[in-house]
Amino acid sequence: MTKYYLGVDLGGTNIKAGLFDEDFQTVQKLHKPTHEEAGPTEVLNRIWACCQQLMAQEKITSDDILAAGFGIPGQMDVEKGISIFSPNFTDWKDVPVAKWLQDKLGQPVFIDNDVRVNLYGEMAFGAGRGHRNVVLVTIGTGLGAAVLINGQVLYGASNSVGEIGHMNMYRHGRPCACGSTGCLGRYVSARGIVKTMQEKLADGQTSLVGEWMSQGQELTTKLISKAVAKGDPTAVEVFKETGELLGFGLGNVINLFNPETLILGGGVSAAGEPLFKYTRETLAHHSLPVAREACKLETAQLGDEAGMVGAAVYAGQKVRA
Ligand SMILES: [Zn+2]
Repeated sequence: MTKYYLGVDLGGTNIKAGLFDEDFQTVQKLHKPTHEEAGPTEVLNRIWACCQQLMAQEKITSDDILAAGFGIPGQMDVEKGISIFSPNFTDWKDVPVAKWLQDKLGQPVFIDNDVRVNLYGEMAFGAGRGHRNVVLVTIGTGLGAAVLINGQVLYGASNSVGEIGHMNMYRHGRPCACGSTGCLGRYVSARGIVKTMQEKLADGQTSLVGEWMSQGQELTTKLISKAVAKGDPTAVEVFKETGELLGFGLGNVINLFNPETLILGGGVSAAGEPLFKYTRETLAHHSLPVAREACKLETAQLGDEAGMVGAAVYAGQKVRA
Protein backbone atom coordinates (compact mmCIF):
# COMPACT_ATOMS: atom_id res chain seq x y z
CA MET A 1 0.00 0.00 0.00
CA THR A 2 1.32 3.38 -0.96
CA LYS A 3 1.66 5.82 1.90
CA TYR A 4 1.72 9.60 1.56
CA TYR A 5 2.95 12.87 3.06
CA LEU A 6 1.19 16.21 3.09
CA GLY A 7 3.30 19.34 2.58
CA VAL A 8 1.88 22.83 3.04
CA ASP A 9 3.45 26.21 2.38
CA LEU A 10 1.40 28.76 4.31
CA GLY A 11 1.87 32.22 2.85
CA GLY A 12 0.17 35.53 3.60
CA THR A 13 -1.53 35.42 0.18
CA ASN A 14 -1.84 31.73 -0.71
CA ILE A 15 -1.95 28.31 0.89
CA LYS A 16 0.03 25.95 -1.36
CA ALA A 17 -0.62 22.34 -0.47
CA GLY A 18 0.71 19.11 -1.97
CA LEU A 19 0.27 15.38 -1.54
CA PHE A 20 3.50 13.42 -1.99
CA ASP A 21 4.38 9.74 -2.18
CA GLU A 22 7.07 8.16 0.01
CA ASP A 23 9.78 9.31 -2.43
CA PHE A 24 8.37 12.86 -2.20
CA GLN A 25 7.14 12.90 -5.77
CA THR A 26 4.09 15.14 -6.24
CA VAL A 27 0.83 13.21 -6.50
CA GLN A 28 -1.66 16.08 -6.12
CA LYS A 29 -1.31 19.81 -5.50
CA LEU A 30 -3.52 22.88 -5.16
CA HIS A 31 -3.50 26.57 -4.24
CA LYS A 32 -6.13 28.42 -2.21
CA PRO A 33 -6.22 32.07 -1.06
CA THR A 34 -5.19 32.30 2.61
CA HIS A 35 -7.69 35.03 3.64
CA GLU A 36 -5.38 35.86 6.54
CA GLU A 37 -7.57 38.91 7.37
CA ALA A 38 -10.30 36.52 8.59
CA GLY A 39 -8.10 35.42 11.52
CA PRO A 40 -6.36 32.21 12.63
CA THR A 41 -9.43 29.92 12.97
CA GLU A 42 -10.54 30.64 9.41
CA VAL A 43 -6.98 30.15 8.10
CA LEU A 44 -6.71 26.80 9.92
CA ASN A 45 -10.10 25.74 8.55
CA ARG A 46 -8.95 26.59 5.04
CA ILE A 47 -5.72 24.60 5.49
CA TRP A 48 -7.71 21.58 6.66
CA ALA A 49 -10.06 22.00 3.65
CA CYS A 50 -6.97 21.89 1.38
CA CYS A 51 -5.75 18.68 3.04
CA GLN A 52 -9.19 17.07 2.72
CA GLN A 53 -9.47 18.07 -0.93
CA LEU A 54 -6.02 16.61 -1.74
CA MET A 55 -6.93 13.30 -0.08
CA ALA A 56 -10.33 13.23 -1.85
CA GLN A 57 -8.68 13.87 -5.24
CA GLU A 58 -6.42 10.85 -4.67
CA LYS A 59 -9.28 8.80 -3.14
CA ILE A 60 -7.38 8.17 0.10
CA THR A 61 -8.08 8.86 3.78
CA SER A 62 -5.94 10.16 6.64
CA ASP A 63 -5.07 6.51 7.45
CA ASP A 64 -2.90 6.60 4.30
CA ILE A 65 -0.97 9.70 5.49
CA LEU A 66 2.32 9.16 7.34
CA ALA A 67 2.76 12.77 8.46
CA ALA A 68 2.15 16.39 7.46
CA GLY A 69 4.66 19.24 7.37
CA PHE A 70 4.06 23.00 7.32
CA GLY A 71 6.23 25.94 6.39
CA ILE A 72 5.06 29.13 8.10
CA PRO A 73 6.64 32.60 8.03
CA GLY A 74 7.67 34.21 11.30
CA GLN A 75 8.72 33.02 14.74
CA MET A 76 7.68 29.66 16.11
CA ASP A 77 8.20 26.99 18.72
CA VAL A 78 9.14 24.09 16.48
CA GLU A 79 9.02 21.52 19.33
CA LYS A 80 5.53 22.49 20.51
CA GLY A 81 4.26 23.19 16.99
CA ILE A 82 3.14 26.70 17.88
CA SER A 83 3.34 29.61 15.44
CA ILE A 84 4.20 32.46 17.83
CA PHE A 85 4.03 35.43 15.50
CA SER A 86 3.76 35.85 11.75
CA PRO A 87 4.21 39.28 10.18
CA ASN A 88 1.59 39.11 7.41
CA PHE A 89 -1.25 37.51 9.38
CA THR A 90 -4.01 39.33 11.27
CA ASP A 91 -4.47 38.52 15.03
CA TRP A 92 -1.86 35.77 14.70
CA LYS A 93 -0.41 35.05 18.16
CA ASP A 94 0.60 31.67 19.65
CA VAL A 95 -1.45 29.67 17.13
CA PRO A 96 -1.19 25.92 17.93
CA VAL A 97 -1.06 24.88 14.26
CA ALA A 98 0.41 21.40 14.77
CA LYS A 99 -1.98 20.28 17.53
CA TRP A 100 -5.06 21.72 15.81
CA LEU A 101 -4.32 19.84 12.60
CA GLN A 102 -3.09 16.72 14.31
CA ASP A 103 -6.51 16.48 16.03
CA LYS A 104 -8.24 16.70 12.64
CA LEU A 105 -5.83 14.48 10.70
CA GLY A 106 -5.03 11.90 13.36
CA GLN A 107 -1.42 11.77 12.14
CA PRO A 108 1.79 13.57 13.23
CA VAL A 109 2.04 17.21 12.14
CA PHE A 110 5.26 19.26 12.17
CA ILE A 111 5.84 22.96 11.54
CA ASP A 112 8.95 24.92 10.65
CA ASN A 113 9.95 28.31 9.34
CA ASP A 114 9.03 28.87 5.67
CA VAL A 115 12.63 29.55 4.61
CA ARG A 116 13.92 26.39 6.33
CA VAL A 117 11.35 24.19 4.58
CA ASN A 118 12.48 25.79 1.30
CA LEU A 119 16.01 24.70 2.22
CA TYR A 120 14.80 21.12 2.91
CA GLY A 121 13.23 21.19 -0.57
CA GLU A 122 16.33 22.55 -2.34
CA MET A 123 18.51 20.03 -0.44
CA ALA A 124 16.34 17.10 -1.56
CA PHE A 125 15.62 18.06 -5.18
CA GLY A 126 17.22 21.40 -6.07
CA ALA A 127 20.39 23.49 -5.93
CA GLY A 128 21.46 22.08 -2.54
CA ARG A 129 21.73 18.44 -3.65
CA GLY A 130 24.96 16.77 -2.59
CA HIS A 131 26.19 19.72 -0.49
CA ARG A 132 26.86 19.82 3.24
CA ASN A 133 27.35 23.57 3.81
CA VAL A 134 24.58 25.65 2.31
CA VAL A 135 22.92 28.98 2.97
CA LEU A 136 19.59 29.63 1.24
CA VAL A 137 18.58 33.27 1.04
CA THR A 138 15.01 34.07 -0.01
CA ILE A 139 14.26 37.54 -1.30
CA GLY A 140 10.50 37.99 -1.48
CA THR A 141 8.11 40.34 0.29
CA GLY A 142 10.74 40.17 3.03
CA LEU A 143 14.24 38.73 3.35
CA GLY A 144 15.14 35.47 5.10
CA ALA A 145 17.78 32.75 5.21
CA ALA A 146 18.23 29.16 6.32
CA VAL A 147 21.58 27.57 7.14
CA LEU A 148 22.94 24.03 6.80
CA ILE A 149 26.43 23.39 8.23
CA ASN A 150 28.21 20.01 8.17
CA GLY A 151 24.96 18.48 6.93
CA GLN A 152 22.87 19.85 9.83
CA VAL A 153 20.15 22.49 9.52
CA LEU A 154 20.80 25.09 12.22
CA TYR A 155 18.01 26.29 14.54
CA GLY A 156 19.61 28.11 17.51
CA ALA A 157 18.31 28.92 20.99
CA SER A 158 14.98 30.33 19.75
CA ASN A 159 14.82 28.82 16.23
CA SER A 160 15.99 32.19 14.90
CA VAL A 161 19.16 31.22 12.99
CA GLY A 162 19.23 32.88 9.59
CA GLU A 163 17.38 36.12 10.33
CA ILE A 164 19.49 37.93 7.75
CA GLY A 165 16.64 40.40 7.14
CA HIS A 166 17.47 42.02 10.48
CA MET A 167 21.21 42.29 9.90
CA ASN A 168 22.00 45.90 10.72
CA MET A 169 23.40 47.77 7.72
CA TYR A 170 22.88 51.39 8.82
CA ARG A 171 22.93 52.79 12.35
CA HIS A 172 20.13 55.20 11.50
CA GLY A 173 18.25 53.74 8.58
CA ARG A 174 14.66 52.85 7.80
CA PRO A 175 12.65 51.75 10.84
CA CYS A 176 11.90 48.02 11.01
CA ALA A 177 8.98 46.11 12.61
CA CYS A 178 11.56 44.36 14.85
CA GLY A 179 12.14 47.66 16.70
CA SER A 180 15.55 48.34 15.19
CA THR A 181 16.50 50.59 12.28
CA GLY A 182 18.54 50.07 9.14
CA CYS A 183 17.81 46.31 8.82
CA LEU A 184 18.90 44.71 5.52
CA GLY A 185 15.38 43.45 4.77
CA ARG A 186 14.06 47.02 4.75
CA TYR A 187 16.15 47.56 1.59
CA VAL A 188 16.69 44.15 -0.02
CA SER A 189 13.14 42.82 -0.45
CA ALA A 190 10.20 43.51 -2.75
CA ARG A 191 8.96 46.14 -0.31
CA GLY A 192 12.42 47.62 0.18
CA ILE A 193 13.15 47.95 -3.55
CA VAL A 194 9.78 49.64 -4.14
CA LYS A 195 10.52 52.03 -1.23
CA THR A 196 13.93 52.94 -2.70
CA MET A 197 12.28 53.79 -6.02
CA GLN A 198 9.55 55.82 -4.26
CA GLU A 199 12.22 57.83 -2.40
CA LYS A 200 14.03 58.64 -5.66
CA LEU A 201 10.80 59.72 -7.37
CA ALA A 202 9.90 61.85 -4.33
CA ASP A 203 13.36 63.47 -4.59
CA GLY A 204 12.43 64.58 -8.10
CA GLN A 205 14.35 61.96 -10.13
CA THR A 206 12.61 60.99 -13.35
CA SER A 207 12.06 57.42 -14.45
CA LEU A 208 10.06 55.35 -16.91
CA VAL A 209 8.61 53.78 -13.77
CA GLY A 210 7.04 57.13 -12.84
CA GLU A 211 5.56 57.46 -16.33
CA TRP A 212 4.13 53.94 -16.23
CA MET A 213 2.67 54.60 -12.77
CA SER A 214 0.91 57.73 -14.03
CA GLN A 215 -0.66 55.46 -16.67
CA GLY A 216 -2.08 53.36 -13.86
CA GLN A 217 0.57 50.64 -13.50
CA GLU A 218 1.34 49.38 -10.01
CA LEU A 219 4.84 49.98 -8.63
CA THR A 220 6.45 46.54 -8.21
CA THR A 221 9.95 45.06 -8.43
CA LYS A 222 8.88 43.58 -11.76
CA LEU A 223 8.05 47.04 -13.14
CA ILE A 224 11.45 48.36 -11.97
CA SER A 225 13.07 45.32 -13.57
CA LYS A 226 11.33 46.19 -16.85
CA ALA A 227 12.70 49.75 -16.66
CA VAL A 228 16.22 48.40 -15.95
CA ALA A 229 15.95 46.31 -19.12
CA LYS A 230 15.24 49.54 -21.04
CA GLY A 231 18.30 51.21 -19.50
CA ASP A 232 16.35 53.63 -17.31
CA PRO A 233 19.09 55.34 -15.21
CA THR A 234 16.98 55.74 -12.04
CA ALA A 235 15.84 52.10 -12.12
CA VAL A 236 19.44 50.99 -12.71
CA GLU A 237 20.47 53.08 -9.69
CA VAL A 238 17.84 51.30 -7.56
CA PHE A 239 19.16 47.87 -8.63
CA LYS A 240 22.78 48.96 -8.09
CA GLU A 241 22.11 50.18 -4.55
CA THR A 242 20.02 47.09 -3.72
CA GLY A 243 22.48 44.62 -5.28
CA GLU A 244 25.45 46.20 -3.53
CA LEU A 245 23.75 46.20 -0.15
CA LEU A 246 22.89 42.51 -0.64
CA GLY A 247 26.56 41.94 -1.49
CA PHE A 248 27.67 43.45 1.83
CA GLY A 249 25.07 41.34 3.66
CA LEU A 250 26.09 38.13 1.89
CA GLY A 251 29.76 38.95 2.51
CA ASN A 252 28.96 38.86 6.23
CA VAL A 253 27.07 35.58 5.77
CA ILE A 254 30.02 34.00 3.91
CA ASN A 255 32.50 35.19 6.55
CA LEU A 256 30.31 33.83 9.35
CA PHE A 257 29.16 30.47 7.94
CA ASN A 258 31.71 29.55 5.23
CA PRO A 259 29.12 27.87 2.95
CA GLU A 260 30.17 26.04 -0.23
CA THR A 261 26.85 27.01 -1.86
CA LEU A 262 24.81 30.13 -1.40
CA ILE A 263 21.38 29.75 -3.01
CA LEU A 264 19.35 32.83 -3.94
CA GLY A 265 15.60 32.24 -4.09
CA GLY A 266 12.27 34.02 -3.60
CA GLY A 267 10.22 36.08 -6.03
CA VAL A 268 12.71 38.97 -6.33
CA SER A 269 15.49 36.60 -7.44
CA ALA A 270 13.66 36.47 -10.80
CA ALA A 271 15.30 39.89 -11.43
CA GLY A 272 18.48 37.85 -12.03
CA GLU A 273 21.85 39.20 -13.21
CA PRO A 274 20.78 42.85 -13.75
CA LEU A 275 20.43 42.90 -9.94
CA PHE A 276 22.93 40.24 -8.84
CA LYS A 277 25.88 41.48 -10.93
CA TYR A 278 26.25 44.28 -8.35
CA THR A 279 26.05 41.68 -5.58
CA ARG A 280 28.88 39.66 -7.16
CA GLU A 281 31.05 42.78 -7.63
CA THR A 282 30.58 43.79 -3.99
CA LEU A 283 31.21 40.26 -2.71
CA ALA A 284 34.47 40.15 -4.64
CA HIS A 285 35.84 43.00 -2.52
CA HIS A 286 34.07 42.57 0.80
CA SER A 287 34.38 38.97 1.95
CA LEU A 288 37.36 36.88 3.01
CA PRO A 289 39.05 35.64 -0.19
CA VAL A 290 39.47 32.05 1.06
CA ALA A 291 35.82 31.78 2.11
CA ARG A 292 34.59 33.55 -1.02
CA GLU A 293 36.55 31.32 -3.36
CA ALA A 294 35.07 28.26 -1.66
CA CYS A 295 31.52 29.54 -2.18
CA LYS A 296 29.39 29.22 -5.31
CA LEU A 297 26.45 31.57 -5.83
CA GLU A 298 23.47 29.69 -7.29
CA THR A 299 19.81 30.38 -7.92
CA ALA A 300 17.07 28.24 -6.40
CA GLN A 301 15.76 25.52 -8.73
CA LEU A 302 12.36 24.59 -7.36
CA GLY A 303 10.62 27.98 -7.65
CA ASP A 304 7.47 28.31 -5.60
CA GLU A 305 7.11 24.52 -5.21
CA ALA A 306 10.13 24.32 -2.85
CA GLY A 307 8.07 25.14 0.24
CA MET A 308 5.47 22.40 -0.33
CA VAL A 309 7.87 19.59 -1.12
CA GLY A 310 10.32 20.82 1.53
CA ALA A 311 7.58 20.73 4.18
CA ALA A 312 6.82 17.13 3.21
CA VAL A 313 10.51 16.15 3.27
CA TYR A 314 10.86 17.79 6.69
CA ALA A 315 7.82 15.87 8.03
CA GLY A 316 9.34 12.67 6.62
CA GLN A 317 12.64 13.29 8.43
CA LYS A 318 10.86 14.08 11.72
CA VAL A 319 8.59 11.04 11.63
CA ARG A 320 11.47 8.69 10.75
CA ALA A 321 13.73 10.13 13.47
ZN1 LIG B 1 14.57 44.40 11.76
